[in-house]
Amino acid sequence: MLCPKCGSNNNEGAAFCSSCGSNLRESVQPNYYKENNYNSSYNNRGNVPNYLVESILATIFCCLPFGIPAIVFSSQVDSLLRAGDYEGALEASRKAKTWCWVAFGCGVAVGVIYFIVFLLRAAAAA
Ligand SMILES: [Zn+2]
Repeated sequence: MLCPKCGSNNNEGAAFCSSCGSNLRESVQPNYYKENNYNSSYNNRGNVPNYLVESILATIFCCLPFGIPAIVFSSQVDSLLRAGDYEGALEASRKAKTWCWVAFGCGVAVGVIYFIVFLLRAAAAA
């Protein structure tokens, strides 16, 4: 491992730097934590679901008029994230999710109506 102070190469697991004598274990830990914090906060900020797949599926299988705003909002999520507008991306993500559910609910409602009509026709024919 490299000494963070002087940069000289030490044996893996060495407690002290053989060149400058600084404590390697102590200096490694804060860096590790810093990196971890950075990663978790980066992940928290970066983890905005765009619901693009759900929107497209909802549009194709459920309800076209309600699926289109879902696709529009989900396509905004990534561009807003790239622009650094995290709050805006979250908002677009929420709207995309809402429209997905509206489209999905609409599709289910239409499916139920078709099913009822089908049953009524079957009953009338019998
Ligand atoms: Zn050193």
